Amino acid sequence: MSDTVSQAKETRGFQSEVKQLLHLMIHSLYSNKEIFLRELISNASDASDKLRFKALSNPELYAGDADLGVKLTFDEANNTLTISDNGIGMSREDVIEHLGTIAKSGTADFFQKLSSEESKDSQLIGQFGVGFYSAFIVADAVTVRTRAAGLDADQAVQWHSSGEGEYTIENISKETRGTDIVLHMREDGKEFLAEWRLREVISKYSDHIGIPVSILTKKRDEEGNETDETEWQQINKAQALWTRNKSDISEEEYQEFYKHVSHDFADPLVWSHNRVEGKNDYTSLLYIPSKAPWDMMNRDHKSGLKLYVQRVFIMDDAEQFMPSYLRFVKGLIDSNDLPLNVSREILQDNKVTQSLRSACTKRVLTMLERMAKNDEEKYISFWKEFGLVMKEGPAEDMANKEKVAGLMRFASTEVDSADQTVSLAKYVERMKEGQDKIYYLTADSYAAAKNSPHLEQFRAKGIEVVLMYDRIDEWLMNYLTEFDGKQFQSITKSGLDLSQFEDEAEKEKQKETEEEFKSVVERTKTYLGDRVKEVRTTFKLATTPAVVVTDDFEMGTQMAKLLEAAGQEAPSVNYILEINPEHDMVQRMADEADEEAFGRWVEVLLGQAMLAERGSMEDPTSFVTAINSLLVK
Ligand code: ADP
Repeated sequence: MSDTVSQAKETRGFQSEVKQLLHLMIHSLYSNKEIFLRELISNASDASDKLRFKALSNPELYAGDADLGVKLTFDEANNTLTISDNGIGMSREDVIEHLGTIAKSGTADFFQKLSSEESKDSQLIGQFGVGFYSAFIVADAVTVRTRAAGLDADQAVQWHSSGEGEYTIENISKETRGTDIVLHMREDGKEFLAEWRLREVISKYSDHIGIPVSILTKKRDEEGNETDETEWQQINKAQALWTRNKSDISEEEYQEFYKHVSHDFADPLVWSHNRVEGKNDYTSLLYIPSKAPWDMMNRDHKSGLKLYVQRVFIMDDAEQFMPSYLRFVKGLIDSNDLPLNVSREILQDNKVTQSLRSACTKRVLTMLERMAKNDEEKYISFWKEFGLVMKEGPAEDMANKEKVAGLMRFASTEVDSADQTVSLAKYVERMKEGQDKIYYLTADSYAAAKNSPHLEQFRAKGIEVVLMYDRIDEWLMNYLTEFDGKQFQSITKSGLDLSQFEDEAEKEKQKETEEEFKSVVERTKTYLGDRVKEVRTTFKLATTPAVVVTDDFEMGTQMAKLLEAAGQEAPSVNYILEINPEHDMVQRMADEADEEAFGRWVEVLLGQAMLAERGSMEDPTSFVTAINSLLVK
């Protein structure tokens, strides 16, 4: 029963995301119409790659036709352009799944972000990758006729849509395997119904594709006049780009190839193309995109690496060859050592995979180091896009920890800006005489970091502090313990000791004050009881009366917040209250004989310190009551 229903012609609605995509695309990409051809030829080439792969284990799929290629025909009279391939083709289910929905999760959210600003949208749409649907930029109706490899002629399918809300699908008979995409051109798409224009676009975008792309053209006679006979003319080189000599490949060709493998519209930032012989025999072509893909932070983000074995495409999303913190890298690896029948399972714990992974990781890190050295501006733009992901590096990749740390950029007290531009190497270079630690502060935001009272003595002593305000930073610092032989030291931890920057007289004076202040410290601790772990005197503050810090090995504020945000129950933070004996307010408090009034002072000190540290306090009412009663007095 269901069989007969599925044979019939039916009309189906597009998933709403497809409708949005179609609408946005037609409106934001009309100035860049020709890219539809790149996208469709790219799909045809992918379909051929997939067939070749499947045929490795089942050569019958070729059914006598193993000459894979893309063929274009145009018909001015009927106003159509047809792009045909003899690749893997699609079954009825495939067609419904691929040409009626967008399978990527998070798509709806992505579309929400799009504005009505066309220039911006066209860039975003580019990151999203428009693929097949780009046909509607030039066509007001599209017919797809396709027959999956291995199916009979009468099991072919026809899909038709005018790109509005719905499409029809029906079973048809098709002589040959593969897919014909027939575009019924819009008025302003007619320019593509000309041989010279097609040649131009194909050479621009599809030269590097590994299979021939040909156009059906009129034969010319000896004088160069068109005859009625036709012939296929191959337009592209049809040699996979990465198999060519580096010196023969132009920048433009690399950039076009990037767009083919990545489905990105923007040019890549940099790339690295290497042919390696010896213990491992492989070619890699790795690109760094200029923009982060929209779904980089999604859990199911797909890696952009393709795996080839001896020039044969094996799989997309070969994530085994790159650590997760470099998941933004696009490109391919073509190995001569792996077996052609390699599967994801085999790749899992395979020696070749491991050594390629470590070589490719090094290659990417070196490429980034080079970019950082040669073009700082470009590098900062890279860091803006991908810094957050790179910060996952030290936890994931112990072996390259130092290299990854060297690539990081942060805000710091030396630069009055939230931009993350300071390298650790630069920091170390600027360290003060006698300084042996890299001081840092983590906070919720740049403003909170920059205005933290913990910075007061550093500012006074002219010591630079790295300011970290990304969510991931506190977690990162669990893994990043030293750089260039220098330990990292959080300035909100109690182990902080700046005595090496103070002279003897100063230290002597501090000792005296601390002694005099002992009773105040004890009274404060008695009043607070278990609410704090400890109370002590501090000399690191100037204009702030008190701060809270945590012990070196205890959980800090940002980590606690991170756990809370992740919905985990965080043990409460054990704070140490440090008071500044030189502050007017603290001196007033010290003079207070009445224990109740003294308690109010303590509430105010602790409340303020907590507010500065956490941006919130547990019991605002007691704090306000304490302030009010002090104000009234
Ligand atoms: P993408 O190529 O990024 O996956 P597209 O919208 O271009 O997105 O295509 C969606 C899917 O439709 C492809 O992944 C592929 O499975 C299928 N498809 C498109 N064109 C062809 C074709 N010429 N032959 C076989 N399958 C195709």
